[in-house]
Amino acid sequence: MKQAHKITFEDTSIAFEYKSDKALRKANFIFSLVNHPWISAFATSSVKLALKLGLPIEGIVKSTVFDHFCGGESIQESERAVQLLARYGVGTILDYSVEGEKSEGGFDRTTDEIIRTIEKGRESKDVPFSVFKVTGICSTELLEKLHGKQQLSVNEVEAYERARRRVNAICEASSIHQVPVLVDAEETWIQDPIDALAYEMMEKYNRQKALVFNTFQLYRKASLQNLKNAHIAATQKNYFIGAKLVRGAYMEKERARAEEKGYPSPIHDDKDGSDKDFNSSLVFSIEHLDRISIMCGSHNEYSNQYLTELMNKNNIAHSDKRVWFAQLFGMSDNISFNLAKEGYNVAKYVPYGPVRAVMPYLFRRAAENTSVAGQSSRELILLRRELKRRKAKK
Ligand SMILES: Cc1cc2nc3c(=O)[nH]c(=O)nc-3n(C[C@H](O)[C@H](O)[C@H](O)COP(=O)(O)OP(=O)(O)OC[C@H]3O[C@@H](n4cnc5c(N)ncnc54)[C@H](O)[C@@H]3O)c2cc1C
Repeated sequence: MKQAHKITFEDTSIAFEYKSDKALRKANFIFSLVNHPWISAFATSSVKLALKLGLPIEGIVKSTVFDHFCGGESIQESERAVQLLARYGVGTILDYSVEGEKSEGGFDRTTDEIIRTIEKGRESKDVPFSVFKVTGICSTELLEKLHGKQQLSVNEVEAYERARRRVNAICEASSIHQVPVLVDAEETWIQDPIDALAYEMMEKYNRQKALVFNTFQLYRKASLQNLKNAHIAATQKNYFIGAKLVRGAYMEKERARAEEKGYPSPIHDDKDGSDKDFNSSLVFSIEHLDRISIMCGSHNEYSNQYLTELMNKNNIAHSDKRVWFAQLFGMSDNISFNLAKEGYNVAKYVPYGPVRAVMPYLFRRAAENTSVAGQSSRELILLRRELKRRKAKK
């Protein structure tokens, strides 16, 4: 086991070793742009308008933000990113990021594509997980009806059965090829049927070890208790839990809807509440590692560092296969590469898909990296520090 010492994420030479000077300057340019709220808003609405008008802007998007945040338009095109990350001990989670699919044919095609990412995982140790969103293979309206326990029509019952078969086909492929699969968490008003499917699959396929992972959003007041309840159920029924732990991505939307519809917000009232529950979920999982395998999906330096401390305190090897760290491609390289260098299991979500279809994902990244009250984003500070360091060395 490696010597226990406090990990830091300061070393930008490790964080950006994989980036050439040119790639680093490009990343600096992109983050400088998205960092300005008005430029980011202007660029986002211009791209949306251009797409609506059918203007040929895909080339420019592809060579800039897409290139930074995505692996490519296909699994094959993403191979370059897979190899690049692998060189530094970081795995790739191929995330087929096509959103807004509505037809049954589209849901089937997405299912086939996700199964291809699992097959890719079987061939390559550098692709340790696969992932999917239930809304990619089932209608959101149907999920909302199921969540609200509304009466379904005969057609809807059949549509749900097809969606369930798709989820089963993905999890079965995960089991056959022994490539774990992550079920992303989405909005609270569709999450109950997603959880129900994930638990059904865990009970079926997690008999020997965690292959199917459900996601717990710790910004939800209920999630820590849900994790504990999941542990009780899995113990009683004798299966393993895969738990991707995240804070949660839809805070503004959740709060706005709760206010509009007049129900109490399911999200913690402040950041501290989310942070406390996230870190408590790490403690709970580490204490129950005999039954729970985790993926810590976070860009929060403290939480990642805290998890390494918990592992050291509990004599858990850095490379223990039940504990993974994950970040998004193009973000928080300081966390991913410094962890990997210390021998921890690290993987990055590498989104891929046709440029046009991946746009909603890119808009979210732009919004997330826009400065708060004029401060530079952490990404920008790190990139500039590394550029300065390289310049001083020359
Ligand atoms: C590998 C990976 C997988 C992911 N998968 C999912 C997924 O399946 N589903 C999903 O929803 N998200 C997912 N996310 C996104 C994640 O939920 C967070 O939105 C994102 O990572 C930012 O949180 P953080 O822990 O990285 O860092 P931080 O910057 O420390 O936390 C920001 C987060 O804290 C919470 N927060 C911020 N302000 C407040 C406030 N005032 N009150 C209460 N809470 C607050 C919000 O959740 C916010 O996103 C994933 C992220 C990663 C890296």
